[in-house]
Amino acid sequence: MAVISALREPVLVIHGGAGTIDPATMTPEKERAYRDALSDSLRAGQQVLNAGGTAIDAVIGAVVSLEDCPLFNAGRGAVFTSDGRNELDASIMDGATRAAGAVAGVTCIRNPIRAAHAVMTRSRHVMLIGPGAEAFAAEQGLEAVEPAYFYTPERWAQLERARAEGRIEIDHDGATRAATDEKKFGTVGAVALDGHGNLAAATSTGGVTNKQWGRVGDSPIIGAGTWADNATCAVSGTGLGEAFMRCCAAHEVAALMKYKGLSLDAAVNEVATITVPANHGTGGLIAVDAAGHVSMRFSTTGMYRGVARGSVEPELAIYRD
Ligand code: ASP
Repeated sequence: MAVISALREPVLVIHGGAGTIDPATMTPEKERAYRDALSDSLRAGQQVLNAGGTAIDAVIGAVVSLEDCPLFNAGRGAVFTSDGRNELDASIMDGATRAAGAVAGVTCIRNPIRAAHAVMTRSRHVMLIGPGAEAFAAEQGLEAVEPAYFYTPERWAQLERARAEGRIEIDHDGATRAATDEKKFGTVGAVALDGHGNLAAATSTGGVTNKQWGRVGDSPIIGAGTWADNATCAVSGTGLGEAFMRCCAAHEVAALMKYKGLSLDAAVNEVATITVPANHGTGGLIAVDAAGHVSMRFSTTGMYRGVARGSVEPELAIYRD
C-alpha cells in the first residue's frame, strides 16, 4: 500500500532589497506602491503553493512578479552600469536535489529568473553568462526584450547622481562601499517550503548602480546570494555583493546550522549582522527551514520583506520594527 505523507503548511518568504529606507523620506503613496507590489508577489507564490505546487515554482512566481515591477532592482527596474547599460543576474536552487541554475550579465531576457531555471533544468551546466546565456534563453523560447525595456527614469537619475559624485564601489584598500542611491539595494528574492517538505530559493538583480561593466555580484553565485538544501534551509540575500561573496553568505547560514547546530534565526542573524559587516558590506538575508521556521535579518535600516503561510493573509514589513 502506498504511504501518503501528510502535507505540510507551505511557507513563502520574499525580499525586495535592503538598505537605507527611512520612514521620514517615504511618502504614503510610495509606501503603498511597495506594499502592493510585495503583496502581489506573495500572492503569486502562495497561489502556487496552495494549489499543491512546488517550492521551485512558487519562488519563480514570486520573483517574476517583482522582476516585472519597476520599483525593484531586478528585471524591469534594474539599475545601470557605469556605461549606462543594464546587466542582470539571477540564480535558483532546488533544496530537494541541490540542482541549481544561474545567469549573469544578461541584457535582453525579460525574466532572468526563468533563464536561471532553464539553465538548471535544461542545460548540463549551473551558470551561463552574457551572450551565451542570452542565446540559450532564446533557444528555450524565453521572452526576449529590447535593452530599452529596462530603462526607467528613476534608475537613470540614480546613475547620473552616482557619476556626478564619482562614487565607486571598491576602495583602493579593498574595502567596499555601496554605490547605490541612498544605499538602497533593491535586489529581489524568494525562499519557500512546499507542502511536500521541499525547499527552494531564488534571487534576481540588476546589481549595483554605476557598477563597472562586466561586474557580477553575489546574486547569481550559488552559495553567496542563493542557497537551498532540504537538510538545512533555503536562503536569499541582498546587499553589497562583494561582501556576500567573500563570506559565501547564503551557504554560511546553512553551514552554521549544520556544523554548529545553530537555529535558523541565530544563523541568519550571525551572517547578516556580524559576518557580512565584517566583510565590509551591509545588507540582509531571508530564510526558511524544513520545519517552516522563518528568519529575515538585516544590518541596514530597512528591508522590503514579507511572509505568507498557508492561506493566511501575507504579512509585510519595510522598516526595522
Ligand atoms: N547583491 C546585489 C549585488 O551586489 C545588490 C543588491 O542586493 O541589490 O549585485
